[in-house]
Amino acid sequence: MELTDMQDWGMPVNDIFLSAGPCSVESEEQLLETVRGLADCGVSFIRAGIWKPRTHPGSFEGVGIKGLKWLARAREEVHLPVGTEVANPEHVEACMKYDMDVLWIGARTTANPFAVQALADALKGADIPVFVKNPISPDIELWIGAVERLYNAGLRKIGVIHRGFSTSRKVLYRNAPNWKIPIELKRRIPGIPMLCDPSHICGKAELIFSIAQEALDLLYDGLMIEVHINPPKALSDSGQQLTPEEFRSLINRLTIKSETGDSNEYRTRIKELRMEVDNIDEHLIALLGKRMEIAGKMGDLKRRNNISTYQPQRWKEIIAGRIASGSEHDLSEEFVFQLFQVIHEEAIRHQEEDKKE
Ligand code: PEP
Ligand code: MN
Repeated sequence: MELTDMQDWGMPVNDIFLSAGPCSVESEEQLLETVRGLADCGVSFIRAGIWKPRTHPGSFEGVGIKGLKWLARAREEVHLPVGTEVANPEHVEACMKYDMDVLWIGARTTANPFAVQALADALKGADIPVFVKNPISPDIELWIGAVERLYNAGLRKIGVIHRGFSTSRKVLYRNAPNWKIPIELKRRIPGIPMLCDPSHICGKAELIFSIAQEALDLLYDGLMIEVHINPPKALSDSGQQLTPEEFRSLINRLTIKSETGDSNEYRTRIKELRMEVDNIDEHLIALLGKRMEIAGKMGDLKRRNNISTYQPQRWKEIIAGRIASGSEHDLSEEFVFQLFQVIHEEAIRHQEEDKKE
């Protein structure tokens, strides 16, 4: 894919590309007060939702089209580009009428190829930058497919936003970061600008800094962060929004990283440490191979005795035991759980293979 560099999108880009603004536009005053607080924070564009996809009916569903006028006024006031989420062709048409500077497709919409194609058709030939948020489920193909639909419609200013993935397991975050998916997306579409949205990943204001820093450590191009003039009173996502002052202080605390460095001390030491890691990985692979060999023998034994491959009680004990051991080595419960799920799946494959003792 030949995409336009973010620097040529016609928006101010400082050290990183920053989008900030309220989850939802609630009133003209709330929007203007918020953007005034953001005027000198190095923001590339003001974000604000005017059509809000809510899980349950009856929640605040956004102010609708009148919010576009207020966004246009906010742009005049602080001289910053403005953008909002679009979910259908009527939204696109209204945004074009009010000359929005940038759009994004929300997580719920990315999950639906019909909706994405309708948006791509409505955007055909437009020069506006469009970001695609990851779908709610951890499905990289749906995410890439949405980017391809926009690309095929002639758009070249396309970026992606990683906002985390919904999970049935209770975890620290509202939406699990699942970093391996955005990392894989960047490998599949190397030049694509990628923002992290730590607000929707975290769900809680106090967790945002560490996820934002982690994204910069992973070489993301920028961040989208929800900022509200009075977060406790916000009509949507109140727990995760920062005040403009909190946003400013968070941005100032972040450290921007680069992929390479030329200090000798760094180069020598990183080489040594990488050799240690390579060594450990070789051992891990050899041990896993051995473990699977034993699984194969167990499979054979179970088969001869008409015993099921899957042993629910044993699996329960393994999970609990490994999570406990993991915690003694500073390994998170989620990591150990996922690791052993993968190991267990591979062990079942080996048990099902017809091996003889
Ligand atoms: C939002 O940006 O406010 C929003 C609704 O996000 P998402 O689509 O990531 O849930
Ligand atoms: Mn939100």
